[in-house]
Amino acid sequence: MQPQPERPGAGLQAAPPEPLRRRIRRRRTAGLVCVTALTFAVSTSAGTGHLAPRPTPAGAGPISLARSAALAPCLITAGSAVQMSEGLPTAGGYARSTGTVRALTLMIDFSDAPGRGKAQDRFREFFPQTRDWFHTASYGRLDYRAETPVPGWLRMPKPFRAYGIERGAPFDPGYRELVQDIVAAADPNVDFRTYDLLNVLVTPNAGPSALDTVLSVTFAGNHEAPVADGVPVANASFVYSRQDDGSGSYDRTGYRVLPHENGHVFGLPDLYTQEGGGAVGHWDIMSEDWGANNDFLGWHKWKLGWLDADQIGCASAPGTSEHSLTPLAEQGGPKLVFVPLNGRAGYAVELRTRGGNDEAVCRPGVLVYRVDANIDTGMGPVTVHDSQRDSGGCTRSPNVHAELSDAPLVPGETFRDTARGVRISVVAADLEGTYRVRVTRK
Ligand SMILES: [Zn+2]
Repeated sequence: MQPQPERPGAGLQAAPPEPLRRRIRRRRTAGLVCVTALTFAVSTSAGTGHLAPRPTPAGAGPISLARSAALAPCLITAGSAVQMSEGLPTAGGYARSTGTVRALTLMIDFSDAPGRGKAQDRFREFFPQTRDWFHTASYGRLDYRAETPVPGWLRMPKPFRAYGIERGAPFDPGYRELVQDIVAAADPNVDFRTYDLLNVLVTPNAGPSALDTVLSVTFAGNHEAPVADGVPVANASFVYSRQDDGSGSYDRTGYRVLPHENGHVFGLPDLYTQEGGGAVGHWDIMSEDWGANNDFLGWHKWKLGWLDADQIGCASAPGTSEHSLTPLAEQGGPKLVFVPLNGRAGYAVELRTRGGNDEAVCRPGVLVYRVDANIDTGMGPVTVHDSQRDSGGCTRSPNVHAELSDAPLVPGETFRDTARGVRISVVAADLEGTYRVRVTRK
């Protein structure tokens, strides 16, 4: 793959009192036949308000974050320079990630790229799969409702090429124009106040193939966005082309770009880096959204409000502590142990097995990864520890990062960070599938 320089966003004005800065990130390469897949997550630091800032009984993701006195030392946070952070709680301005979330979903086409077939067929490339994916990942805590008040293709007033949409295109001016035109075209049929986020499913014949260039992009927490019905279209995911690697799995796996893009809408950073998926592999959909289905990391589930306080252990005290873990894919039981190193970073520990959204797990066991709230999206905020370094991995699944596929620890194995005096041992696994983990720290 071609390493690509960072491209700062252009044209977005500073918004007093807080300056808005934005970043554009590239996607990793997919693993099959030189497939290079690029996309960009764009976030702003000063976003406020959702697309629909109405009161909600479920509460925003940050509001519903599980907290307790015991967990307080594990709430790592970012410095002010970080745009999109793994820190807890998630900054304001993103869409809420618990309760009923209404996703306005519009299928758009252009005079130079007219929609082929029915717009509802485009919709069905992503639904109900995306809704089901979030239902499974969230243990039923995110009730994702995609609605299409405009059932057909929504024709944009200008040809596709006139918007200047290309890889890494900033919000201004092309996307601003596009969003303004979407709002104008949909407004007669849509009350934008009633939605939490916007999905724009672009006709697949607009722009390049996703095999060449992934244009799919999310603008999250962007309160500089055009206003519709009095609310900014602050959280919007655009999906282009089809992530079809030719392996014949598109019907099952092609929708997965949308949960990835929506992950940004909920405040999650990209976990792939300029070097590709080597930091996290296939252990989170924010790292790899091609290929076999995968889940979110347990850290992300905490961040999104999908775990209760009693499902999370915080190993902050010096000495030894023991913890149980049940498979992350299964509902209920302890899911996550965090070992904070300081106020910015620590080690997360969870049990990954084949089940739920995780269909490519070939070595079930305890995954240990470093989370650093002070590392920005696309720069490697999460790094998975590979218990079998340079093994080549255990998967043969296409578009699944192989080397890290056998990363988990099995009973009898230990992770050591001698410099920081941290030891994490998998003590035992019982017949019900519960694992015991022992954490020792200075
Ligand atoms: Zn992304």
